[in-house]
Amino acid sequence: MKVLVAGAGIGGLCLAQGLVRAGIDVRVFEREPAADSRYQGFRIGLDGPGIAALRECLPPRLHPLLEAVTGPLAGARRLVDRQLNELRHLSATVDGTAADRHVLRQLLLAGLGDRVEFGRAVTGYRERADGRAEARLADGGSAVGDLLVGADGVGSAVRRQLLPGAEVVDVPGNALLGRTPLTERLAALVPGSGTLVHGSGLNLLVGRMEFRRPPRLAAAELAPEVELPDAESYLRWVAMLPEPLGPEPGEWAQVRDRLLGLLDGWHPDLVELVRQSDTGNSSPLTIRYAEPVSHWGTGPVTLLGDAIHAMPPSAGQGANTAFRDAALLCRSLAAVHRGEAELTDAVEDYELQMLDRGFAAVAMGLDRLSEFTPAR
Ligand SMILES: Cc1cc2nc3c(=O)[nH]c(=O)nc-3n(C[C@H](O)[C@H](O)[C@H](O)COP(=O)(O)OP(=O)(O)OC[C@H]3O[C@@H](n4cnc5c(N)ncnc54)[C@H](O)[C@@H]3O)c2cc1C
Repeated sequence: MKVLVAGAGIGGLCLAQGLVRAGIDVRVFEREPAADSRYQGFRIGLDGPGIAALRECLPPRLHPLLEAVTGPLAGARRLVDRQLNELRHLSATVDGTAADRHVLRQLLLAGLGDRVEFGRAVTGYRERADGRAEARLADGGSAVGDLLVGADGVGSAVRRQLLPGAEVVDVPGNALLGRTPLTERLAALVPGSGTLVHGSGLNLLVGRMEFRRPPRLAAAELAPEVELPDAESYLRWVAMLPEPLGPEPGEWAQVRDRLLGLLDGWHPDLVELVRQSDTGNSSPLTIRYAEPVSHWGTGPVTLLGDAIHAMPPSAGQGANTAFRDAALLCRSLAAVHRGEAELTDAVEDYELQMLDRGFAAVAMGLDRLSEFTPAR
């Protein structure tokens, strides 16, 4: 069996790792020219099922490195006012794992070698008469596999062809994604798993990414064949405003200064959080989510992760769900590979479970989005 994957994001790479582990032939096509050509490092919170799915796909020799380059995500999420007075706790105690998306993606590339082809965008596909899928590539090339998996994120070209009626909605308002180096002073802003600041007309959600060990050094010691970036611990924050900050987003320094102009009367540590934000690693953020879709007739093309069930970050589930999709699809395809199941049945079984779980998470994210969104 040969599997083609569109997209080397964290979902597509997790799937590729699991397939290699199961002895299945896989090729991954990624639009970006290189693994680090676009900065993608923000903190993601992984829960028990998400991290278990990731470990199920990753080879066991990389598990100690995964543990070393993630961090704790524990305690309650608290709601505070702009002077940091605690208003209430927002959720039960969390016991999860904080991961940096960029570091995780580099780790997920380990050992995949030339199975991942960068600079090769998938533009669409053709279902062949023999029941296989032919992926079409922007460079004029093509590839044939028994299954094409669209793991190409929220703007998925594969989804656009497979489900032309599926809708992705932009959430109105303006979100800014900031990253600020972790200092002793700023660490106190997040004593638990997250802090949500309700200001007037502006909310700030702050989370902590504290690597257990510096990723590059940990890789050198625990898995020298893996190259991880030099990344330092940081606070990740999302500012939510009811309206765009200005006509054009512009450079981060300008955006940051406009945001600082709105922080009159805010606690000095919150002002410092924004002031110290890292210009290279902070940016405006468009929040999007997918409208639910019904199951389509199973064929040689399927979808995984944000390509099918994109959700607002308030769900805290996008990556968790993508990893669970990947592990589930691997299990289904491994059964086919062992001769215990038919491909179409296995993929249909995956799709039904994936759709249920994915769109339940989208709905949860939309429910929670109102907590984060300031009133207009
Ligand atoms: C600020 C923020 C915070 C978040 N926090 C959390 C959290 O706490 N917990 C959590 O679980 N999730 C979180 N998420 C969500 C999570 O990051 C995403 O759900 C996850 O990255 C989805 O993975 P994916 O592989 O499906 O898609 P992506 O990560 O988007 O990867 C898609 C890949 O496909 C490539 N691609 C696109 N088009 C093509 C094409 N035509 N051909 C080939 N390649 C293509 C892209 O370049 C990319 O590499 C957060 C998201 C944001 C923005």
